[in-house]
Amino acid sequence: MMDFKNLISHCKEYGFIFPSSEIYDGLSAVYDYGPNGVELKNNIKSYWWKSMVQMHKNIVGIDAAIFMHPKTWKASGHVDAFNDPLVDNKDSKKRYRADQLIEGYAEKIEAKINKDIEKARTRFGDAFDEAQFRATNERIIERQKEIDAVLNRLADAMKTGNMDDLKAQIEEYEIVCPESGSRNWTEVRQFNLMFNTQLGNIAGEEGKLYLRPETAQGIFVNFLNVQKSTRQKVPFGIAQIGKAFRNEIVARQFIFRMREFEQMEMQFFIQPGTEMQWYEYWKETRLQWHKALGTDSSKLRFHDHNNLAHYANAAVDIEFEFPFGFKELEGIHSRTDFDLSQHQELSGKKIQYFDPELNESYVPYVVETSIGCDRMFLAMISNALQEENVPDADGQDSVRTVMKLHPAIAPVKVAVLPLLKNKEELTSAATALYDQLKVHFNCQYDEKDAIGRRYRRQDAIGTPYCITIDFETLENNTVTVRDRDSLEQVRLKIDEVKNFFQDKVSIESLLV
Ligand code: ATP
Repeated sequence: MMDFKNLISHCKEYGFIFPSSEIYDGLSAVYDYGPNGVELKNNIKSYWWKSMVQMHKNIVGIDAAIFMHPKTWKASGHVDAFNDPLVDNKDSKKRYRADQLIEGYAEKIEAKINKDIEKARTRFGDAFDEAQFRATNERIIERQKEIDAVLNRLADAMKTGNMDDLKAQIEEYEIVCPESGSRNWTEVRQFNLMFNTQLGNIAGEEGKLYLRPETAQGIFVNFLNVQKSTRQKVPFGIAQIGKAFRNEIVARQFIFRMREFEQMEMQFFIQPGTEMQWYEYWKETRLQWHKALGTDSSKLRFHDHNNLAHYANAAVDIEFEFPFGFKELEGIHSRTDFDLSQHQELSGKKIQYFDPELNESYVPYVVETSIGCDRMFLAMISNALQEENVPDADGQDSVRTVMKLHPAIAPVKVAVLPLLKNKEELTSAATALYDQLKVHFNCQYDEKDAIGRRYRRQDAIGTPYCITIDFETLENNTVTVRDRDSLEQVRLKIDEVKNFFQDKVSIESLLV
């Protein structure tokens, strides 16, 4: 895995991600996608959309507006409950999330446990049994108890909104500011994460609008419209991809935590009482979706929530091992009938489904799958980007930077390269092939620099195949196709080229 700083500069250098408004020194936690970034991001969205909407006859899509009636956010709980507890360090003037500081304290204890385990592993060698060691070693048992106590107390304080206790915990654990090293903290305060703005023609509270902090509510408020217009029967789902905005207090780790980001969410409407069965189904289905991209199983794991949100009766994260550790990539939540019931109450409109099987009406339950497109992007880049020793043209060892993305999501599928730039026969044959292929795939034509350097440029952006047009092409209409990962080169007839790629680089290859 590549060092995180190098990954960020690679993303900029190769046109994946730029800091927003960089000429004005950027805007914190806001980013722009460059020419290669937008292709990769679109491919991720397309893979998600196809596997959800196209592959399920009982899932349909919508594209709701970012602005919604302000009562939406009252109903959803975001006005009253979408708060993070924040605390400032008086010396460094830095702002932190109190819950994250406390979690960080628990992680430090965890790190001590891991250190002990690694020591024991070295000492005992092959005979080492980690599970047994964890269960019997006194020091580890004590430390694990301490972690559980810290996390349980944190969960309680978060659930009841007890800011005083969060402050007390920070003091008791003697947590210091990473910047100033001091323990000079302010009180812990609630901070609402929604951005707001004002409708032009209505002054005051009445005209206050929010930028949506999640796409899900656009789905809930359209439940009846979609169900009636598509005649879907429960169980069925509504999918949506779109922007969401959160005024994150601590925005760091590149595109992992942004203030403007994109979500891919699907709400699955079901009979009350069937939620656990569908929850299990979507857990497995979503994990498979990740694995189909070739992500190693050891980099993905489930993490059950012990601190359930106000709307959920079961929730799990799919975590991915980012360069800074395992972190949430996607959430699967059993949301009960919370949202639809709330909207029913606040709007005064009946939001129910008549179930012909049961011969009764009810407010459907919901299981949601929610993934951040940008986080998925970061997961894919950090999984794929590596430095590797390979033989160069003369057979000498050299280092190459290569992005081993699954071909179906790679920004450029095929690069067409004439061996030499100033041989008209070669460049015109290459241009003709490029023109033929560009109809089917996102291709690049590149004639600048030596062929080895052009290969490296394509490796760096993850192009799975390079086609070289050489003098033999002019004689017998064949080309060399180089594979990004194996570096193998095969000779193919020009008219076989399209079929050779078609299956390998298509999103459909991920769906079957
Ligand atoms: P976190 O605990 O990391 O703040 P969350 O639990 O609040 O995330 P959800 O509300 O469940 O996140 O949102 C669903 C998904 O949206 C997350 O799994 C994540 O992929 C994505 N997401 C949430 N907040 C952000 C953000 N600030 N930047 C980028 N992606 C985000």
